[in-house]
Amino acid sequence: IKTKLAITASKIAVLCFITASSGTVATPPEPVKRELSRLFRRFANLARYSINFVTLVSMQILVVEDEKRIADLLARTLHEEGHQAVVSGNGREGLAIALSSRFDVIVLDVMLPGMDGFSVVRKLRESRNQTPVLMLTARDAAADVVSGLDSGADDYLAKPFPLEVLLARLRAISRRGDAPRSACLEIGAVKLDPASRSVTRAGEVVNLTPREYKLLELLMRNRGRAV
Ligand code: CA
Repeated sequence: IKTKLAITASKIAVLCFITASSGTVATPPEPVKRELSRLFRRFANLARYSINFVTLVSMQILVVEDEKRIADLLARTLHEEGHQAVVSGNGREGLAIALSSRFDVIVLDVMLPGMDGFSVVRKLRESRNQTPVLMLTARDAAADVVSGLDSGADDYLAKPFPLEVLLARLRAISRRGDAPRSACLEIGAVKLDPASRSVTRAGEVVNLTPREYKLLELLMRNRGRAV
């Protein structure tokens, strides 16, 4: 990409030089104008691509979603973003795939044939598989959110959702990975240690139920964002 950027920039420079030395700067001929604008567009696209390439690391993503339209859209979008997507339309099959290969993130629908999303994530965690899970819940289904987090999901997204939001959430939860998962979260006097699942406030241990802990962890991980 760097080489292509350099070549495009050189072409622009040469063309500008030729135009300037031929004394037609004020009104460059139409073909030159077109070529220049094509080169500028190419330069901008290459620059954008190189920025995306650096900031978006390609991820291996498992999508378990039985609604074909959504599954296809997700697979296409993830592919366009440079990720690898494996799609399954069945909970039981999705669980088997998740356990047999390594994924960076799992996008998991709740209502699935074979096995529902809550059971899938619960069985994953029982098998000591800590792959981050983004659960797709029905709109406004607060009970789904709580059940999902209780089962061991890391984040949730209510349907229907804008694709940009899904991509942002995937980037956020994949960054947590396995290692950062054990890093302590600290906001003000509150300190949360995911490794030991303990919470302290100003050094004092705070006893929380598993659900309270999970909610607090979710809120702290999403600091400054409405969840
Ligand atoms: Ca479904």
